[in-house]
Amino acid sequence: MALLDIRDLAVEFGSGPAAVRAVDGVSLRVAEGQTVCLVGESGSGKSVTGLSIARLLPSPPAHWIDGEILLAGRAIRHLPERELRAIRGRVVAYIFQEPAAALNPVLRVGDQIREMLELHRPAAAHRDEVTRLLELTGIPAAARRARDYPHQLSGGMLQRVMIAMALAAQPRLLVADEPTTALDVTIQAQILELLTDLRRRLGMSILLITHHLGIVAEFADRVAVMYAGQIVEEGPVPAVLANPLHPYTRALLNAVPRLGAGAERLANIPGQAPPAGAFPSGCRFHPRCPRAEPECRRSPPCLLEVLPDRHVRCPLWNPLGPDAG
Ligand code: SF4
Repeated sequence: MALLDIRDLAVEFGSGPAAVRAVDGVSLRVAEGQTVCLVGESGSGKSVTGLSIARLLPSPPAHWIDGEILLAGRAIRHLPERELRAIRGRVVAYIFQEPAAALNPVLRVGDQIREMLELHRPAAAHRDEVTRLLELTGIPAAARRARDYPHQLSGGMLQRVMIAMALAAQPRLLVADEPTTALDVTIQAQILELLTDLRRRLGMSILLITHHLGIVAEFADRVAVMYAGQIVEEGPVPAVLANPLHPYTRALLNAVPRLGAGAERLANIPGQAPPAGAFPSGCRFHPRCPRAEPECRRSPPCLLEVLPDRHVRCPLWNPLGPDAG
């Protein structure tokens, strides 16, 4: 049984004729100890999917329209709020893009970690455990740093503090929503290495949400590519990166800078991702797809297993990749 099993999730914002469907039939599984990357441009629905796991979207305006999410075997959709609170932190914890915004500026970071411990593991809510959690995230002189206020720490340090807070409840699944986007490149790599190391040492699962397909290669076991509220391709990382089957995955890969690629221009994806509420008819990628045919405008494609363990939402997929003739 998967630790996280998202089945046909559909989420709308607003109601009545003005309702906008941001996530439309998303299915995704994360096994114990696995890292899965959810990749896509902004507005593709990946963060809405991530926030739905612990029902963190305010409702209204968000409405869970269809589907179910099983987290450690518990169905989340209709779970009473009291039981959800027990799951948040202890089963699933989150880190986000802007750690400074998530921390209280007038509380020392150690006190904020201790508050998390008091909430989830009261017996461990003492200074030694705060220091241990900070050390786990690689913060030097952790006992001293625990007495700092958020403004005294760099962006990379603050993200480590957020990770320490997330780990305080010993979650089984960590949802990391663009955790490195606000950081410079060398710090990004350090945070990703830290997450990889923690996953191995603590046996956690990680759902990494990112717009950057380049992150996937070294970090994740599986990747799901989202476009316009739907998953368009899903599979094991080595297979998807070696031979992307969907034209959008190929375009994202072509946009990733590679070491040693010289001064070649990176390929841009023509056009813009459509916002929720303005998704095109038929295949939602057709206005930007180099392989689009007239039928693509009419028939919405299904996500199908076209090769063992490879799913793609394109009836014109080619076993040799979308660039093959
Ligand atoms: Fe492109 Fe058509 Fe495939 Fe959509 S269905 S990705 S438009 S070839």
